[in-house]
Amino acid sequence: MATAASAGHLYVVATPIGNLGDLSERAIKTLQAVDLIACEDTRVTKKLLAKLEISCPCISYREENEKTQALALLKDLQAGKSIALVSDAGTPTLSDPGFRVVRACRNEDVPVVPIPGPCAFTTALCASGLPTNGFLFLGFLPPKASARKRFFEKYQDFEYTIVLYESCHRIDKFLDDLLETLGPDRTLCLAREITKRHETFLVGTGQSVKDQLQKSSKKGEFVIIIAPKSFSL
Ligand code: SAM
Repeated sequence: MATAASAGHLYVVATPIGNLGDLSERAIKTLQAVDLIACEDTRVTKKLLAKLEISCPCISYREENEKTQALALLKDLQAGKSIALVSDAGTPTLSDPGFRVVRACRNEDVPVVPIPGPCAFTTALCASGLPTNGFLFLGFLPPKASARKRFFEKYQDFEYTIVLYESCHRIDKFLDDLLETLGPDRTLCLAREITKRHETFLVGTGQSVKDQLQKSSKKGEFVIIIAPKSFSL
């Protein structure tokens, strides 16, 4: 790496999903060097920057303003600014805002540089013990039970692992729908609060994961991993 930030470059910077120690040296150097940081929630990113003693102008780039902000950022990049794109946690663009500005840069030949790091689904998958030879990551399923069940029915015989995100508010209902459609014996992993103090991995058949969940806390963030039908631990 010649310099930490070059003029007219967009840096897609992954930030911790819980443990500040997971922020890479390269990410820190990039955040120190850029002219502008585009953040999902400026309050969240400013807290991170304060811990790192970095003062850099921040601009909001979130789902609601993504269309207009993508064009504004493109103009700034074309004018020679170096910009870091971050989300509240993890890797931008993965179930997070960012896709539009990256696409705009690619269309206009503006260089995009990934600064890799934490990501909830890869972190959960690598420690789950479920097959990693091939997997489908889909982020959040639709919140409605009927749409969720249709998804499970469609993918019940899928030959690879399926990785999903879900909020703590829906985790019970999510598991009920999953067990109802895929049955109680499908091997699952529920990864909760990864890299944080209360990190928990519940692994086993759907029924045993559900039973374990009843006995543990349901607070926090979850990654759900569904093994192929043929797999057992
Ligand atoms: N872009 C982020 C990434 O790279 O992981 C994901 C953002 S998405 C809006 C947030 C969801 O990711 C949460 O609802 C949860 O499903 C999952 N997640 C994020 N952090 C997590 C953690 N520490 N433990 C478990 N799941 C997490």
